[in-house]
Amino acid sequence: MKLTPRCTVKSLDDNNRDGTFVVLTKIAEIVEDGPWWYSSCVCGRSVQAESGIYFCQFCNIHVTNVTPRFRVKMLVEDSTGLSIFVLFDREASYLLNKTCAQLFEQHLKDVDVVFGIQSPPIFEEIVGKTMLFKVLNRPVGMEKFKGTYPVRRVCDDAAIVGMFELSGSDLSSEKERDHLGNPLRLPNHRIWD
Ligand SMILES: [Zn+2]
Repeated sequence: MKLTPRCTVKSLDDNNRDGTFVVLTKIAEIVEDGPWWYSSCVCGRSVQAESGIYFCQFCNIHVTNVTPRFRVKMLVEDSTGLSIFVLFDREASYLLNKTCAQLFEQHLKDVDVVFGIQSPPIFEEIVGKTMLFKVLNRPVGMEKFKGTYPVRRVCDDAAIVGMFELSGSDLSSEKERDHLGNPLRLPNHRIWD
Protein backbone atom coordinates (compact mmCIF):
# COMPACT_ATOMS: atom_id res chain seq x y z
CA MET A 1 0.00 0.00 0.00
CA LYS A 2 1.37 3.32 -1.01
CA LEU A 3 1.00 6.09 1.51
CA THR A 4 0.51 9.59 0.26
CA PRO A 5 3.20 11.85 1.73
CA ARG A 6 2.11 14.34 4.30
CA CYS A 7 2.75 18.01 4.04
CA THR A 8 2.10 21.24 5.85
CA VAL A 9 0.62 24.23 4.04
CA LYS A 10 4.01 25.91 3.96
CA SER A 11 5.95 22.89 2.73
CA LEU A 12 3.37 22.43 -0.01
CA ASP A 13 4.24 25.91 -1.26
CA ASP A 14 7.96 25.34 -0.80
CA ASN A 15 8.57 21.82 -2.00
CA ASN A 16 7.89 22.42 -5.68
CA ARG A 17 7.23 18.75 -6.20
CA ASP A 18 4.66 17.21 -8.51
CA GLY A 19 2.24 14.80 -7.03
CA THR A 20 -0.39 14.44 -4.38
CA PHE A 21 0.05 15.30 -0.74
CA VAL A 22 -2.07 14.94 2.35
CA VAL A 23 -2.54 18.10 4.39
CA LEU A 24 -4.32 18.39 7.71
CA THR A 25 -5.78 21.85 7.72
CA LYS A 26 -8.70 24.03 8.74
CA ILE A 27 -11.11 25.71 6.35
CA ALA A 28 -10.65 29.34 7.39
CA GLU A 29 -13.09 30.88 4.95
CA ILE A 30 -14.76 30.52 1.59
CA VAL A 31 -13.21 32.79 -1.02
CA GLU A 32 -15.92 34.92 -2.57
CA ASP A 33 -14.22 35.46 -5.86
CA GLY A 34 -16.52 34.60 -8.73
CA PRO A 35 -18.97 31.73 -9.00
CA TRP A 36 -18.78 28.64 -6.80
CA TRP A 37 -20.06 26.58 -9.68
CA TYR A 38 -19.38 26.07 -13.36
CA SER A 39 -21.42 24.78 -16.28
CA SER A 40 -20.41 21.32 -17.27
CA CYS A 41 -20.95 18.86 -20.06
CA VAL A 42 -21.98 15.28 -19.16
CA CYS A 43 -18.26 14.42 -19.28
CA GLY A 44 -17.71 16.76 -16.32
CA ARG A 45 -15.62 19.32 -18.17
CA SER A 46 -16.35 22.99 -18.11
CA VAL A 47 -18.28 24.43 -21.04
CA GLN A 48 -18.74 28.07 -21.96
CA ALA A 49 -21.62 29.51 -23.87
CA GLU A 50 -20.86 31.20 -27.15
CA SER A 51 -23.84 33.09 -28.58
CA GLY A 52 -26.03 31.09 -26.25
CA ILE A 53 -24.71 27.72 -27.42
CA TYR A 54 -22.55 25.47 -25.28
CA PHE A 55 -19.76 23.52 -26.89
CA CYS A 56 -17.59 20.87 -25.26
CA GLN A 57 -14.13 20.82 -26.79
CA PHE A 58 -13.37 17.45 -25.28
CA CYS A 59 -16.47 15.65 -26.57
CA ASN A 60 -16.44 17.85 -29.67
CA ILE A 61 -20.20 18.34 -29.52
CA HIS A 62 -22.71 21.06 -28.83
CA VAL A 63 -24.09 20.49 -25.38
CA THR A 64 -27.76 21.08 -24.66
CA ASN A 65 -27.87 19.39 -21.28
CA VAL A 66 -25.64 21.58 -19.11
CA THR A 67 -25.24 20.77 -15.42
CA PRO A 68 -23.88 23.06 -12.73
CA ARG A 69 -21.00 21.54 -10.74
CA PHE A 70 -19.13 22.77 -7.73
CA ARG A 71 -15.83 24.61 -7.88
CA VAL A 72 -15.38 26.19 -4.47
CA LYS A 73 -12.28 28.14 -3.49
CA MET A 74 -11.39 27.94 0.18
CA LEU A 75 -8.80 29.69 2.25
CA VAL A 76 -7.22 27.04 4.45
CA GLU A 77 -4.79 27.37 7.31
CA ASP A 78 -2.59 25.30 9.54
CA SER A 79 0.06 26.42 12.02
CA THR A 80 2.53 27.05 9.18
CA GLY A 81 0.48 29.30 6.92
CA LEU A 82 -2.41 29.92 4.58
CA SER A 83 -3.25 28.56 1.18
CA ILE A 84 -6.07 28.24 -1.33
CA PHE A 85 -7.60 24.82 -1.92
CA VAL A 86 -10.23 24.25 -4.58
CA LEU A 87 -13.04 21.81 -3.92
CA PHE A 88 -14.64 20.15 -6.90
CA ASP A 89 -17.98 18.50 -7.38
CA ARG A 90 -17.65 15.13 -5.70
CA GLU A 91 -15.94 16.38 -2.55
CA ALA A 92 -18.07 19.53 -2.19
CA SER A 93 -21.30 17.53 -2.63
CA TYR A 94 -20.09 15.11 -0.01
CA LEU A 95 -19.22 17.82 2.53
CA LEU A 96 -22.37 19.86 1.93
CA ASN A 97 -24.60 16.82 1.54
CA LYS A 98 -26.17 18.46 -1.51
CA THR A 99 -25.62 18.41 -5.22
CA CYS A 100 -24.64 21.60 -6.95
CA ALA A 101 -27.86 21.46 -8.99
CA GLN A 102 -29.96 21.31 -5.81
CA LEU A 103 -28.17 24.29 -4.31
CA PHE A 104 -28.32 26.19 -7.57
CA GLU A 105 -32.05 25.65 -7.81
CA GLN A 106 -32.53 26.76 -4.23
CA HIS A 107 -30.85 30.11 -4.97
CA LEU A 108 -32.06 30.59 -8.51
CA LYS A 109 -33.71 33.91 -7.69
CA ASP A 110 -30.81 35.19 -5.63
CA VAL A 111 -28.62 36.93 -8.20
CA ASP A 112 -25.76 37.68 -5.76
CA VAL A 113 -25.46 34.01 -4.88
CA VAL A 114 -25.80 32.75 -8.44
CA PHE A 115 -23.03 35.06 -9.64
CA GLY A 116 -20.81 34.31 -6.69
CA ILE A 117 -20.81 37.79 -5.20
CA GLN A 118 -22.01 36.06 -2.09
CA SER A 119 -21.60 32.41 -1.08
CA PRO A 120 -24.63 30.25 -0.38
CA PRO A 121 -25.21 30.31 3.40
CA ILE A 122 -24.75 26.52 3.58
CA PHE A 123 -21.01 27.04 2.97
CA GLU A 124 -20.76 28.39 6.52
CA GLU A 125 -21.33 24.84 7.74
CA ILE A 126 -17.89 23.75 6.60
CA VAL A 127 -16.00 26.88 7.66
CA GLY A 128 -13.94 26.26 10.77
CA LYS A 129 -13.73 22.51 10.21
CA THR A 130 -10.39 20.75 10.29
CA MET A 131 -9.98 17.79 7.99
CA LEU A 132 -7.57 15.95 5.75
CA PHE A 133 -7.20 17.07 2.18
CA LYS A 134 -5.43 15.16 -0.52
CA VAL A 135 -4.29 17.87 -2.88
CA LEU A 136 -2.45 17.96 -6.16
CA ASN A 137 0.75 19.93 -6.48
CA ARG A 138 1.33 20.83 -10.10
CA PRO A 139 4.44 20.97 -12.22
CA VAL A 140 6.85 23.82 -11.95
CA GLY A 141 6.22 26.36 -14.67
CA MET A 142 2.48 26.46 -14.22
CA GLU A 143 2.90 29.71 -12.39
CA LYS A 144 -0.68 30.78 -12.73
CA PHE A 145 -1.64 27.92 -10.42
CA LYS A 146 0.99 28.73 -7.83
CA GLY A 147 -0.44 28.67 -4.34
CA THR A 148 -3.77 27.16 -5.45
CA TYR A 149 -4.28 23.45 -5.02
CA PRO A 150 -7.08 21.29 -6.40
CA VAL A 151 -8.50 18.90 -3.83
CA ARG A 152 -8.65 15.28 -4.94
CA ARG A 153 -10.14 13.81 -1.76
CA VAL A 154 -11.34 14.95 1.62
CA CYS A 155 -11.52 12.97 4.81
CA ASP A 156 -13.44 14.36 7.77
CA ASP A 157 -13.64 11.10 9.69
CA ALA A 158 -12.91 12.14 13.29
CA ALA A 159 -10.98 8.96 14.14
CA ILE A 160 -8.67 9.25 11.15
CA VAL A 161 -8.17 13.00 11.55
CA GLY A 162 -7.30 12.29 15.20
CA MET A 163 -4.72 9.70 14.21
CA PHE A 164 -3.10 12.18 11.87
CA GLU A 165 -3.00 14.81 14.60
CA LEU A 166 -1.31 12.37 16.97
CA SER A 167 1.23 11.28 14.40
CA GLY A 168 2.07 14.84 13.41
CA SER A 169 5.40 15.08 15.21
CA ASP A 170 7.50 14.23 12.19
CA LEU A 171 6.05 15.76 9.09
CA SER A 172 9.17 15.39 7.05
CA SER A 173 9.10 11.61 7.23
CA GLU A 174 7.20 9.80 4.55
CA LYS A 175 7.39 6.54 6.47
CA GLU A 176 5.49 7.41 9.59
CA ARG A 177 5.80 5.40 12.76
CA ASP A 178 3.79 5.21 15.93
CA HIS A 179 5.24 5.72 19.41
CA LEU A 180 6.48 2.09 19.44
CA GLY A 181 8.31 2.57 16.17
CA ASN A 182 5.87 0.54 14.10
CA PRO A 183 4.83 1.96 10.75
CA LEU A 184 1.48 3.65 11.02
CA ARG A 185 -1.13 1.83 9.07
CA LEU A 186 -3.81 4.32 8.30
CA PRO A 187 -6.78 3.03 6.36
CA ASN A 188 -5.77 5.12 3.37
CA HIS A 189 -6.97 2.65 0.79
CA ARG A 190 -10.56 3.10 1.92
CA ILE A 191 -10.45 6.85 2.06
CA TRP A 192 -8.17 7.91 -0.70
CA ASP A 193 -8.39 5.41 -3.51
ZN1 LIG B 1 -17.90 16.88 -22.80
